[in-house]
Amino acid sequence: MTVIHVVTEQDVIEHRPALIAWAKANGLEPRLIDQCGLTIEQVGDRQMIVYTEHQVGAHGAKIIDPDRNEVLKIPRSRTLTQPLPEGIGQRVCTCTLSARCPACCGTEPGADTEGDQAPGG
Ligand SMILES: [Zn+2]
Repeated sequence: MTVIHVVTEQDVIEHRPALIAWAKANGLEPRLIDQCGLTIEQVGDRQMIVYTEHQVGAHGAKIIDPDRNEVLKIPRSRTLTQPLPEGIGQRVCTCTLSARCPACCGTEPGADTEGDQAPGG
């Protein structure tokens, strides 16, 4: 997996409402996602949300890890279906000499934006 986007704890604090809506749109439960931050990672053709999940028991109460005396947390991932809102977190460029990354190319690699404009002036 290649990290292509990083959302830090500071980003979570600054953009909490937008991130809650985004998490729900991706089928995630915001109250179970740790505030420590998350990453978007490229896995083949897919992009995954990689995050830390708080564990809850049968009745929805959070499970405490007795060794650490804090909520039990497990690393999880889920396929990204809705893109992050603009301006949250930091893109990580994964371009190489032989290939451009989705962050740089977008979804239309090689798209030609030059129209056939008249050369007048
Ligand atoms: Zn790039």
